[in-house]
Amino acid sequence: MADGQIVEVLNLLAEDYEDDAAYPGRSSEGLNPEWPCDPFHVLIATILSQRTRDDNTRRASDNLFHRFGTLEEIADADPGEVAELVRPAGFPKQKANAIVDCCRMLRDEYGGVVPEDTDEMMRLPMVGRKTAACVRSYAMGIQSICVDTHVHRISNLMGLVDTKTPEQTEFALMDITPEERWTDINRFMVRHGQVVCLPNHPHCERCRLTHLCRYAEENGF
Ligand code: SF4
Repeated sequence: MADGQIVEVLNLLAEDYEDDAAYPGRSSEGLNPEWPCDPFHVLIATILSQRTRDDNTRRASDNLFHRFGTLEEIADADPGEVAELVRPAGFPKQKANAIVDCCRMLRDEYGGVVPEDTDEMMRLPMVGRKTAACVRSYAMGIQSICVDTHVHRISNLMGLVDTKTPEQTEFALMDITPEERWTDINRFMVRHGQVVCLPNHPHCERCRLTHLCRYAEENGF
């Protein structure tokens, strides 16, 4: 792709979604704006958000944070009780065990603070690159590229990258994107994937990116 093309893509998407993405990390990960957008809350909500819809994540995280207010309280909690609270998000036993273990590790090994380093964060249960990037970008203010299914799909459809896995997409996007725009990729592409470039039906006829998109060019838009 031409130099600067992704910046043009992000600038055009910002015209549509800058306001929608006003509370980053929450709209895409299902964290109710009632809760602070800090590393602890975003980390737990992002774990809960795996393999479920945003409304389920929201119900589960609301249940959990109403009952337990701090990382230390969750670390001391009975995983069985946590499982009942997070049941709306699915996989209750697996997610409850991961969340309790996560809080215990953070309390015992990290002084109760979520580490900024990606590799350190990925030592925590159910924390992969996507979750770590989400916490870093939205709760820590560190430029990161959080590659979910929308970012992976749209980047490849457009021809911004040619990759097979989200991890490959993350590194390929890093190569072509100025670091100060890394967080914008998830902020804007997720919304675009929800309202225009839908997973099974990209609405190219009402997309402002057709002149920059390989899929649109190949399909006559
Ligand atoms: S032009 Fe079509 S395929 Fe390309 S980003 Fe827009 S909706 Fe998606």
